[in-house]
Amino acid sequence: MALIVQKYGGTSVGTIERIHLVADRVAHTQREGNQVVVVLSAMSGETDRLVKLAHEVTTVPDEREMDMLLSTGERITIALLSMELRGRGINARSFTGRQVGIITDSAHTKARIARVTADRIKEALKQGVIPVVAGFQGINEQSDVTTLGRGGSDLSAVALAAALKADRCVIFTDVDGVYTADPNIVPAAKRIGKIAYEEMLEMASLGAKVLQSRSVEFAAKFNVPIEVNSSFKEGKGTLVTKEDRDMEAAAIAGVTGDRNQAKITVVGVPDKPGIAARIFGSVAEAHINVDMIIQNMSQAALTDLSFTVPRADLKKAVPIIQAVAKDIEAKSVSVTEAIAKVSLIGVGMRSHSGVAAKMFDVLSREGINIMMISTSEIKISCVIDEKYLELAMRSLHSAFDLDQAQA
Ligand code: ADP
Ligand code: ASP
Ligand code: MG
Repeated sequence: MALIVQKYGGTSVGTIERIHLVADRVAHTQREGNQVVVVLSAMSGETDRLVKLAHEVTTVPDEREMDMLLSTGERITIALLSMELRGRGINARSFTGRQVGIITDSAHTKARIARVTADRIKEALKQGVIPVVAGFQGINEQSDVTTLGRGGSDLSAVALAAALKADRCVIFTDVDGVYTADPNIVPAAKRIGKIAYEEMLEMASLGAKVLQSRSVEFAAKFNVPIEVNSSFKEGKGTLVTKEDRDMEAAAIAGVTGDRNQAKITVVGVPDKPGIAARIFGSVAEAHINVDMIIQNMSQAALTDLSFTVPRADLKKAVPIIQAVAKDIEAKSVSVTEAIAKVSLIGVGMRSHSGVAAKMFDVLSREGINIMMISTSEIKISCVIDEKYLELAMRSLHSAFDLDQAQA
């Protein structure tokens, strides 16, 4: 008897008809002699709707209250699926993050999991009950509700699979696996059969939202293989696992796009030691992740410092930066939201040279200006004008020979 954690994303539980289909699959998995633990997201669009409501109330909503609000979405789906299963005579029970002991730190809206007790899940399984767990949520040491960052139900599933030493962790979604690029943007994208944690982590961090990046980080740390598959049809998916020899050694594994960043520029910064530490120290204190940083050439002992932050944190970041800018006597602060980041990812880059040069060439041929660049051993990212993102992704996908062979 295998223990299988199945996570269903927002689209997969987006309507009552879809919840029926999820119940069919859960029932079938149990009938085949397995123990099943189900982790659910909120109905598609629900979390966005709640975020929007909060912003209609106030510009920068209190983060503890935000988590109280956002965690409601998943309570709806777990209760509905459990009712549906029980209606069919299948013994299922819904549980919140608190009830299953998902204990996190207190970084509201992007809390990190500290430990998972899973006692009630183990107890339920022993009694033959199917636990249906609310994804995306936990509690901190004070028992306040926390959430795990957007897309965080993936992390809930992986963390439970690790805590329960599950045999499989399957992420059911609206695509049948991880592709060389978002198939909804690049129609020629190919499904990847098997991908290493390291590549998947870069792809997820750089915009492939099919898996939340922290779920991949967690899976790699605890060596939990993740299967990504379609909740709508049967077929092969993608296995995310340790790097092995039969993984393709192509230079590029995939292309990603990310619209979730915004650029802040502090203009006329005194060019002296300690200034960058001041600026980024105050941003870090507010739990805002800075991604790319660029410092322009200094003229007359003044410099411009640009950096990107998640768009969702922009309203919180700007007043903080304005205060520091005033303190350090910088000239002004400007903000651009209409940027996007296009990236190429591949462990093969370690042994292939010229990838960056070719990327810049492809973008320049399309007349796309590069605002910022960042590289690591296995990725290259460029910040460009948001309106060219899809064009950039398709051109790069094709230039790096990732397009599906025409049938
Ligand atoms: P869920 O609600 O099931 O968690 P998400 O919307 O979070 O689903 O993730 C699935 C979506 O991820 C797909 O519909 C697809 O548009 C997008 N996506 C982005 N990059 C990729 C990629 N490289 N491979 C597959 N899907 C991708
Ligand atoms: N409902 C949450 C979100 O939309 C978590 C998830 O779907 O994984 O971000
Ligand atoms: Mg998701």
